[in-house]
Amino acid sequence: MAPIARLAMAVLLFSATFINAAPTATTADNDAHIAGYSRAVSAAAPGVKLVYKCTVPNTVAMTFDDGPFEYTADLVKLFNSKNAKATFFINGQNNGKITDYAGAVKQAYASGHQIASHTWDHGDLTTMNAKQINAEMDKLDVAIKKIIGVSPTYMRPPFGNINDLVTKTVGARYTIVIWSQDTNDWRHENDWKSSLKVYQDKIKKANGKGGEIVLQHETIKLTAQELTKRAIDYVQKNGWKLVTVGECLGKDKATWYRK
Ligand SMILES: [Zn+2]
Repeated sequence: MAPIARLAMAVLLFSATFINAAPTATTADNDAHIAGYSRAVSAAAPGVKLVYKCTVPNTVAMTFDDGPFEYTADLVKLFNSKNAKATFFINGQNNGKITDYAGAVKQAYASGHQIASHTWDHGDLTTMNAKQINAEMDKLDVAIKKIIGVSPTYMRPPFGNINDLVTKTVGARYTIVIWSQDTNDWRHENDWKSSLKVYQDKIKKANGKGGEIVLQHETIKLTAQELTKRAIDYVQKNGWKLVTVGECLGKDKATWYRK
């Protein structure tokens, strides 16, 4: 290979690696932290593998954080009507209390959507010790088990915030899921078209065959009521299958939960 071509290849490889790695924190991300939504900060413990993308071709996994909330039940109905699946990274108490939306959580589970953990009360795990981290996970597991009879084996850390201790502690028991595409819906709550553009531009460009794990928030009204139906249609129109995170990683449903 000619030196120039080799250099170009190296740059390409480097960029690809960089894009696939967690985005770097910025000032805006700190706002995100304050606003209570998501950012992704890197640094996993050695040997702990974080999930950013799907591995099954032609799939897209739409993920909804921070529920359950007042829109959960309608979202489940919407996905069911489109013959599509979603993943809900839920809290015990955040915008809503899990016990107030137990019916919606049960319906989501019964319909084959994936229920995953987003910790009990959405605290920043990177500020906690191992005992506190485990307590955040265990408390929600118990609450979820009371509702659906099983507890999740997949989790997403609040704000996407991780460090060595978090990934070591949580990674021993859960598959840690970040995301490959962020709709940033919380940054423009009243502008769902900008979120849809992430599907139309970035997701399409990133990989025509899908493979993306997309982050949005089920607590945002326009995400639930305007964005999602259009995003589902867009994804399906492109021939990509909307599946859960577990499915998009080729994992059998039995492995998404423990008894
Ligand atoms: Zn969150």
